[in-house]
Amino acid sequence: MLKKQDIPAQDWEDWQWQFRYRLRTLSQLDEALNLTDDEKESLTKTTRFAVGITPYFASIMDPHDPNCPIRRQAIPLGAEFISHSNDLPDPLAEETRSPVPYIVHRYPDRVLLIVTETCHMYCRHCTRKRRVGFHEEAITSEQLAIALKYIEEHTEVRDVLVSGGDPLSLGDERLERILAEVHRIKHVEVIRIGSRAPITNPFRITQQFVEMLRQFHPIWMNVQFNHPNEITAESTKACERLADAGIPLGNQTVLLRGINDTVEIQKHLVQKLVQIRVRPYYLYQCDLVQGLEHFRTPVSRGIEIMEHLRGHTSGFAIPTFVIDAPGGGGKIPVTPHYVLYQTPEKIVLRNYEGKVFTYPEPIK
Ligand SMILES: *Cc1c(COP(=O)(O)O)cnc(C)c1O
Ligand code: SF4
Repeated sequence: MLKKQDIPAQDWEDWQWQFRYRLRTLSQLDEALNLTDDEKESLTKTTRFAVGITPYFASIMDPHDPNCPIRRQAIPLGAEFISHSNDLPDPLAEETRSPVPYIVHRYPDRVLLIVTETCHMYCRHCTRKRRVGFHEEAITSEQLAIALKYIEEHTEVRDVLVSGGDPLSLGDERLERILAEVHRIKHVEVIRIGSRAPITNPFRITQQFVEMLRQFHPIWMNVQFNHPNEITAESTKACERLADAGIPLGNQTVLLRGINDTVEIQKHLVQKLVQIRVRPYYLYQCDLVQGLEHFRTPVSRGIEIMEHLRGHTSGFAIPTFVIDAPGGGGKIPVTPHYVLYQTPEKIVLRNYEGKVFTYPEPIK
């Protein structure tokens, strides 16, 4: 079993070692954790969605607690195999918004560029499950050329979001080539990278890697911390390195039943995130992906969480709660109601404590 204390530090802290030795089978995981019958059975099924967990991410699980929030994100349960009437094969209609393979163009001025379908760790709640993890393939040079041509021809695209899968499962050289190509396009003003590597394989963020990224500024990065237990010495170091290289970090949390769906956990999470210079960006309502029903929370829970953040903690620690609209409508913010009513003369509001205030409109 790959336990930290048995592994030489130069291996344990080598991201490629972590990636190569991802735990993928029942027998490997059974050695690492005290698995429940449900987990064992789920791991024997020919799963529709890959299992892969870095030894590091497994090391931050509680081996004895089946409800461990880290474990629940990584190890399948039987519930994952049950279909529900609201499930959609492609809830965000990404395939219909894909003008060429590997590009999703849903908003006027920005596109998503999918560079790989491989991840350091396969999240059970992945929204892109339909295509992630099957073949562990990355975009080919020919496919990349077609995607880049699309971006070049669409001069309205000023923001390119490099995502996947996890783009940081590619090596530095490959990523550097991709980023250089995107950076070269004149009308692209900013590149964003979406990655879970700082959380699932923090050793990926080497000094050499951040030096490479710096060539392509302005580079922003969005990560996905879902629980305060993911903020470890290792993930902290990864985020600090990125922030020190001038890369603004945003966090996109998925609201997950039984994992992080309380006010206390979310408040603790956002407060810890700002300490490591990661700004909470989005809190996502769980998408209608097949096998995610058991993770879904009522929308009212998200609203309640927002109600208990705004005013109660630093404004820059507060994410926007969004529903990514089924059918491809994009992210729609959902907030508690602060406007009680509005007339041409005034607006009547309540504050975070429930006190009521009137703001008069300009006199015409
Ligand atoms: C989320 C997303 C974006 C980025 O949206 P922002 O609100 O700008 O962060 C862009 N394209 C697609 C397809 C997305 O899903
Ligand atoms: S890292 Fe992202 S793409 Fe990969 S499994 Fe998790 S949510 Fe899906």
